[in-house]
Amino acid sequence: GDPSAQWRDYQGAPTGTDIECKGWRQEAALRMLNNNLDPDVGENPEELVVYGGTGRAARSWDAYDAIMAELRELDDDETLLVQSGKPVGRFTTHERAPRVLIANSNLVGKWDDWEHFHELEAKGLIMYGQMTAGSWAYIGTQGIIQGTYETLAALADEHYDGDLSGKIVVTGGLGGMGGAQPLAVTMNHGVCIAAEVDEGRIDRRIETGYCMEKTDDLDDAIEKATEAAENGEPYSVGVHINAADMLEGMLDRGFVPDVITDQTSAHDELEGYYPSGYSVEEADHLREEDPETYVEESLDTMARHVRGILDIQDAGAIAFEYGNNIRGQVKEHRDMQHAFDFPGFVPAYIRPLFCQGKGPFRWAALSGNPEDIHRTDEAVVDLFPEKEQLHRWIDLAQEQVEFQGLPSRVCWLGYATDDDGLTERARFALRINELVADGEIEAPIVVTRDHLDAGSVASPNRETEAMRDDSDAIADWPILNALLNCAAGADIVSVHDGGGVGIGNALHANNHVVLDGSELAAEKARRVFTTDPGMGVIRHADAGYDEAIEQAEKSNVAVPMRDR
Ligand code: NAD
Repeated sequence: GDPSAQWRDYQGAPTGTDIECKGWRQEAALRMLNNNLDPDVGENPEELVVYGGTGRAARSWDAYDAIMAELRELDDDETLLVQSGKPVGRFTTHERAPRVLIANSNLVGKWDDWEHFHELEAKGLIMYGQMTAGSWAYIGTQGIIQGTYETLAALADEHYDGDLSGKIVVTGGLGGMGGAQPLAVTMNHGVCIAAEVDEGRIDRRIETGYCMEKTDDLDDAIEKATEAAENGEPYSVGVHINAADMLEGMLDRGFVPDVITDQTSAHDELEGYYPSGYSVEEADHLREEDPETYVEESLDTMARHVRGILDIQDAGAIAFEYGNNIRGQVKEHRDMQHAFDFPGFVPAYIRPLFCQGKGPFRWAALSGNPEDIHRTDEAVVDLFPEKEQLHRWIDLAQEQVEFQGLPSRVCWLGYATDDDGLTERARFALRINELVADGEIEAPIVVTRDHLDAGSVASPNRETEAMRDDSDAIADWPILNALLNCAAGADIVSVHDGGGVGIGNALHANNHVVLDGSELAAEKARRVFTTDPGMGVIRHADAGYDEAIEQAEKSNVAVPMRDR
């Protein structure tokens, strides 16, 4: 239906120090939901779509209105239940319990596929929550930029002396997440060529400073990129072309980049990925008229796309999959048994961090005041004087990352404990809570995170690909993560199916803690920022990773069967 009138009035999260809910925890939920649907933050908020194909913040505009009304009425000792983007119940619990509990897109094992999902979605019974879309934790492309930057920095460390200067990275997809790629490459001093079928998406990345130029002409892109690389200058260009066609065009021309990856929405062959041979408008029309043909053509293009990546790898490039399940898709639907001949980015670059409970967490200033985030930047730098890479990141972010919606910051901290047994994340949160209490920060800060974190996700083609003990598909861990974070008193807790790799391919959980300067917030922060990264440590210790076992020993994390 038509967008809700109150959503049109809001145009993003309310800001300032006056609240319309009965407490800051409820207000934080209301502001974060509207921040997801801010036209500057979400990709297509008119249809409630936040990012990642069809990742939605609420099931329908009626459901959005109902969630807003519930949040306004919710008492400090009540808990609202949201099932796939629709409010379904409200119970008296207690003040220390979560204010909102969310479950999105979950299906019982045998029914857990796109076919059943789309049937139920058409009946209005379920919604695709992606990861941070349905859990109201999306903060725009700025949310992924550090992860993309760190992944490319880890790649540069491993292969090129820590810098991408003079190197060309080829990728696809300039959507909500993929749009971070050109800036992450240029922040590492490299050159990026990105294929994108939707010209409007390229324009959006250029307007927000994530990408430098656009072209329709592949020769032009290769020429400019090669020249910039030869001069060691950072450069990025969005090419208005289908990614599969671009890779074949590069192979035909004998052009071999240094690095090849992709972030088109390949996890969803119907509503995320575009088949070759159609403009966006023509493809959108085909999807409406004849979804079966669309899916077949989309998967055919994906098969060519993966073949292109493998051929470019054979020609000498470093290839990795960037978490969109493009390998899984063509292995399953086009019987390409060699699709997994290039690695996923987690086993290649991220898992050692997960073993120490390190992952991307983020915080947003509910005041809407950028000064509040600058104050938190100073606090991180003060608290961790020894972390040079973190300082470099904060400097780069301040210089080059524009705020979208509520001012926010992302940073990777882990479990490592100090003399008082406080984890890095807990120390950070407690410091911010003090700054709010002292009035140095104008309004509460909400701390949340991606579902892609150390101990919160089971995803055999991504976060848990190639686990040491073959436990890739065991989904008890994200469920324990969500239950434990409820027990620890997080303010919003959610569990989703699907996310970045599609229905049936992952389960994952997320949480929010509102730092309003109170003793209650300090108590919650101390617990949640121990249990949450702690899940990463025990999950990887259980799988037999030495880094995790060492971290558990150093920080006195109880891992029962290891202690015996
Ligand atoms: P999005 O839907 O906002 O954007 C995808 C973009 O790809 C769109 O702009 C679309 O026009 C373009 N596209 C689709 N098919 C194409 C093709 N064949 N050629 C060229 N362009 C094409 O999605 P997003 O939020 O940017 O996420 C992209 C993918 O990355 C998703 O599969 C998502 O699940 C995954 N993802 C990975 C990570 C990670 O950490 N690695 C994080 C989030 C999302």
